[in-house]
Amino acid sequence: MTYDFDLFVIGAGSGGVRAARFAAGYGARVAVAESRYLGGTCVNVGCVPKKLLVYGAHFAEDFEQAQGFGWSLGDARFDWPTLIANKNREIARLNGIYRNLLLGSGVTLLEGHARLLDEHRVEFGGQRYSARHILLATGGWPHIPDIPGHEHAIGSNEAFFLEQLPKRVLVVGGGYIAVEFASIFHGLGAETSLLYRRELFLRGFDGAVRTHLRDELSKRGLDLQFNCDIERIDKQADGSLLAILQDGRRLATDCVFYATGRRPMLDNLGLENTGVELDERGFIKVDEQFQTSAPSILAIGDVIGRVQLTPVALAEGMAVARRLFKPEEYRPVDYQSIPTAVFSLPNIGTVGLSEEQAKAAGHQVKVYESRFRPMKLTLTDCQERTLMKLVVDADSDRVLGCHMVGPEAGEIIQGLAVALKAGATKRIFDETIGVHPTAAEEFVTMRAPITP
Ligand SMILES: Cc1cc2nc3c(=O)[nH]c(=O)nc-3n(C[C@H](O)[C@H](O)[C@H](O)COP(=O)(O)OP(=O)(O)OC[C@H]3O[C@@H](n4cnc5c(N)ncnc54)[C@H](O)[C@@H]3O)c2cc1C
Repeated sequence: MTYDFDLFVIGAGSGGVRAARFAAGYGARVAVAESRYLGGTCVNVGCVPKKLLVYGAHFAEDFEQAQGFGWSLGDARFDWPTLIANKNREIARLNGIYRNLLLGSGVTLLEGHARLLDEHRVEFGGQRYSARHILLATGGWPHIPDIPGHEHAIGSNEAFFLEQLPKRVLVVGGGYIAVEFASIFHGLGAETSLLYRRELFLRGFDGAVRTHLRDELSKRGLDLQFNCDIERIDKQADGSLLAILQDGRRLATDCVFYATGRRPMLDNLGLENTGVELDERGFIKVDEQFQTSAPSILAIGDVIGRVQLTPVALAEGMAVARRLFKPEEYRPVDYQSIPTAVFSLPNIGTVGLSEEQAKAAGHQVKVYESRFRPMKLTLTDCQERTLMKLVVDADSDRVLGCHMVGPEAGEIIQGLAVALKAGATKRIFDETIGVHPTAAEEFVTMRAPITP
């Protein structure tokens, strides 16, 4: 049978674009359908605009600290509409780059919604296209719980386009997106509270990292409220909101921002016309080579709900393109030791196992920790402290995890991820010469374990 395309990709986000470009580069005839925005979540309503807002929020502390270095600044004022307009301009530029990348690699770009008709056919704009393989890379969507008044709340998609910075914000959630947005709103001057229903945010991160960040955020004046949740949101006559908590408290605010998880984007995708199955969490079920229960249909990225990060979607996209069109270069995606950052203020950078995970996996661990006031702050009134931590296997001396809370932690952890991937031991860390004077050199100068 002949097909219109060798590969039809639904979704031009991180994973879809990577798979499409690589497949086309290997000589496949490829189409990509995109219903909203080129570059997907990461470029439009995820990593990129989020990081730009974090940079914006960081200036507040820069201005304050500058005074210790002899600078006197006038009355620094912040204008949210300017930041959002500039951010939008940059995103539009990136959308253009994605378009050129796809077209330049010979991919047929179809802008609009695509829907599966069966396991080899897709409907797009009233047309039907056939393909030998179909790749679902449709990503995810913010989930806002269905409580009374949920229509007054926003998710991350809307937060990037607010017309004004709210004066008061309640951020609900305990994942990295909640923590980052709480830092953004607080840094930009909004009176911000973070509400989370469990005892501490960032489940899965190292315990010392979680408590250290909690303490640092509290020191900055960010109001953290754990073990609580919103029961109802009422709109007031003056347009403000009243959040009624399950414990009966009533919190007045101007914005309720939910970051309580993301669901897979399967809306009107036509899965019912195929044998594609979902897992128990509702994400698309795939095998280790990203094949769904329908042999001609594959899925990658957030829609399979494994590790919802852009570099992981990219790696999965590349693996699919190779598996289908360059099998001799196929390598499975390595989900071990994925480095990651939380761009809270201060940042978290982490790679490998937390102390808790290492112990649960049966390792006898040695833990090294350093807590210090960064040199840059010594001329300022800021009492922020940095945390660095190494989790080491006591038997093999192998470094199992590196964790940091402090300025530029995301930048610093990337290099350490290479060391962990290469299987570095603590001895190798010790024998590595530091870069002086930096904060990062602490990672190679921690001599005595804090555990026996
Ligand atoms: C606020 C926020 C901050 C984040 N920050 C980071 C970060 O700092 N670092 C990091 O690594 N990750 C971050 N992420 C996660 C990252 O954005 C995702 O993991 C990544 O975008 C997933 O890529 P994907 O290709 O699976 O899906 P997406 O990038 O979501 O792309 C899916 C695309 O499919 C399109 N689509 C869906 N259905 C259809 C259809 N039927 N027809 C046509 N097109 C369709 C969508 O419009 C979308 O463009 C963040 C996410 C959010 C929400």
